Amino acid sequence: MAKIAFIGLGNMGGPMAVNLVKAGHEVTVFDLVPAAVAAAVAEGAQASDSAEVAAKGKDFIVSMLPASQHVEGLYIDGTGLLDIVDKNTVIIDSSTIAAESARRVAEEAAKRGIKMVDAPVSGGVGGAVAGTLSFIVGGTTEAFELVKPILEAMGKNIFHAGDSGAGQVAKVCNNMLLAILMAGTTEAIGMGVKNGLDPAVLSDIMAKSSGNNWALQVYNPYPGVMETAPASNGYQGGFMVDLMAKDLGLAFDSAVKSRCSIPMGSMARNLFAMHAANGNGSLDFSSIQKMFADLD
Ligand code: NAD
Repeated sequence: MAKIAFIGLGNMGGPMAVNLVKAGHEVTVFDLVPAAVAAAVAEGAQASDSAEVAAKGKDFIVSMLPASQHVEGLYIDGTGLLDIVDKNTVIIDSSTIAAESARRVAEEAAKRGIKMVDAPVSGGVGGAVAGTLSFIVGGTTEAFELVKPILEAMGKNIFHAGDSGAGQVAKVCNNMLLAILMAGTTEAIGMGVKNGLDPAVLSDIMAKSSGNNWALQVYNPYPGVMETAPASNGYQGGFMVDLMAKDLGLAFDSAVKSRCSIPMGSMARNLFAMHAANGNGSLDFSSIQKMFADLD
């Protein structure tokens, strides 16, 4: 079993660290919020007062932080963990960040002889708790093979997307498509309802026709159509509008830098940014339905 430092115990990182403990690993945790550390310790993790202390002498470091600046701050600019950790420690950053940030940190790690992968996740808090996340890994094949058994304790599907940064690129491509599909689905249901259709009947028709997609299958955005979907629970739980807006911002930045045209993604970005600005940031992202139906 491996010695692992886990840094960043928020909505995702907390349950992920606990799943590593349950798999029998020796897990030392650190977060800026003491209550988050205490919650992981209650599940069998060991507490640490700082990222530096947690990271010393470990086989792996896993980080799950909010955004690019936090990851660059932890490893290079602020705490500077790369100058502290042992050469044979393998670093796994599972935060969703810009691909160029992931590449920058991995390159700095490589200069010091340290292996690092970007391994953003899909599957949300439910997947983090259940240990069924998808990990989308960017890094060398050698590093991928080293981290795979560790990721398998927290996830079900472990993909190797390509070299450093590729995990982040694949992650934002997927989430951009998800945002477009969700916005399109809510628009279609909204038009149907305003023209007298029952949203459940219309959803069933589209799910069995050429408009079928993931939202219609398992995550219907119209309240009352699907009992288990956030839409039927006041758009609570699930994947927050603010996080989708963040991911669409990353997609947009990536498109600008790589000179790609993303008209649908840009539209989705604007829709979700407006929706967030209208006070819906903490709701599930399927609440974009409110823009296309009189729900309140
Ligand atoms: P969160 O805000 O709940 O947790 C982040 C944690 O990091 C907090 O507990 C914070 O105190 C801690 N932190 C910040 N800087 C730190 C530092 N320097 N040292 C130690 N701890 C530090 O966020 P989350 O929902 O857990 O998401 C984490 C990442 O996963 C984000 O990049 C997010 O985009 C991505 N993600 C989230 C979801 C989701 O559904 N929540 C799904 C997929 C991916």
